[in-house]
Formats: sequence, C-alpha cells, structure tokens
Amino acid sequence: MRTLDLGDAEAVHLPGGDFRLDGGTMFGVVPKALWQRECPPDERNRIRLSCNCLLLKTGRELALLDAGFGERFSRRERAMYGMDGAQALRGSLAAAGVAPEAITMVALTHLHFDHFCGCLIQGPTGLAPLFPNAIHAVQRGEWDDALAGRSTMRTSYRPEELHTLARRVEVRFLDGDSELAPGLTAFVTGGHTRAHQGFRLEAGGHVLVYPGELIPTRLYLRPYWNMAYDMFPYQTSTRKQHFAAEAAARGWIVAWDHDPDAPWSRIVQDGEHFVARAVEL
Ligand SMILES: [Zn+2]
Repeated sequence: MRTLDLGDAEAVHLPGGDFRLDGGTMFGVVPKALWQRECPPDERNRIRLSCNCLLLKTGRELALLDAGFGERFSRRERAMYGMDGAQALRGSLAAAGVAPEAITMVALTHLHFDHFCGCLIQGPTGLAPLFPNAIHAVQRGEWDDALAGRSTMRTSYRPEELHTLARRVEVRFLDGDSELAPGLTAFVTGGHTRAHQGFRLEAGGHVLVYPGELIPTRLYLRPYWNMAYDMFPYQTSTRKQHFAAEAAARGWIVAWDHDPDAPWSRIVQDGEHFVARAVEL
C-alpha cells in the first residue's frame, strides 16, 4: 500500500481492481505498431489497466476519489474485461485500516462503470451503497448525460443504479469548478465526457492532482495518445497539454487513474515532450 505524506494531509493509493480493454480503442488514432511496443497486448489484443482509487485524509474528511468497477460483474463480463481482484477496493480499504462507513466523501471523476460501480454492493435485499455515510460528489452535467445515455458506448453507464444510489445517500451535484472541502477542489476537464472532472488537493505546500481520464496513464502524456472512448478527443488533446505544462511548471504530483504500474508521478518537460518521473518527497 503506497502513501504520500503531504504534511497536513495524507494520500493513500487504494487499488480498486485490474482489468483489460482493447488496445486499439484505448489508443484511438495511434497505430498498433507504435502502442504495442509500450503496452504489449494479450492474445485478445487487450492491454493491462488498473483502477487506482485514492483516499485523501485531510483531518476533516476521509475522501475517496473514484470507486473502481466494484464486485458485481458476472463471470462472463469478468472474463470479457479480464477483471481481477474480486473485492479489491474493500480489501484495499481494510489494508489501510479504514471502514467503508468512515468515508465522508466519494468524489467521482465521471460515471462510467469502471469508476462508479464500486459505489454499490449487492446487499441481502438488493443493491446498497458501500459508503452509506459519504456525500457522493459528481458534476450535474455528468449525471444528466449518464441518465440520458449520452455516451460513445451505451454500456458505459448504469442509469438505474444512479437512481438507486441517489435514494440511499446524499448526492452533491456540482455545477462547474467547485470547492469540496478546505484544500480540495474539483475542476471540469471535459474531453472524455462533457462534464468529466478532476480533483486537486493542496496540503503542506504540495499540490496533488487526480486528472482522471484526461491523462489516465503515463503513456497518455503524449498529445495524440487518446482513447477512442473520448467524446471530445480534440479537447482531451489540447487540455491535457495545458495541464501537463502547468503540472511540470508548478511541480504538481499527478495521480494516474488507470496506470497499472505507477499510482503517481511528477511531470517534467523534456524538449517538447512531457515525461513522468518518480515522486520523491
Ligand atoms: Zn476509466
């Protein structure tokens, strides 16, 4: 279990399960000849990905960023997505010594299944929230798009499960950039979905940013390496370059939501390129 001591706050990497998606859809316009050198695909052309959830302990809040794909997929679906780690997020929380009931806030970058489904578990009488005492923070535009099924893939969203969640916990709908708690802010990135958001924590003189699908792994620091799942690919491309430049200039720590081998990095500029470096505090 990896942690970052940020002085006034602590960040804990909570592995939320590993899975696999088609390399072609994950890298959009990039030819396979290029991406397979960096990310060798399996026999079904799938590449390794992780759901990297983040726990932020700020003194007042125990905030969870994203919830992974959860525990409720069928055997067939688990095989299709190569899902590994049956109760990964619960196991990670237990390893961190945190009960799900103690989480005060769950902040979601967006509502695709690999970020949202971990919010609900199968209880004895139906679906139940895993974090019953947490405010669940999401952009109102993302919630509306999810309910309306506005997506590049119909299967990305679970509209009926959103209704279930909203009946059982307090959902805080955000309208654009918002302060979630002292030092913790949400910022809209667009790109992947219209109202996709990232999160920024300022603590102890450090800035830790979780940009979600704006830059899901270190490989996506390259301008044209974008997912075919993005609704607005040009926005992803331009906004992530601004983000990377600012992260490099200001020395931010950037946490990757899907990188299977690194929960976080610093970004440095190398000529025209941005590259990831290990974090040393
Ligand atoms: Zn994702």
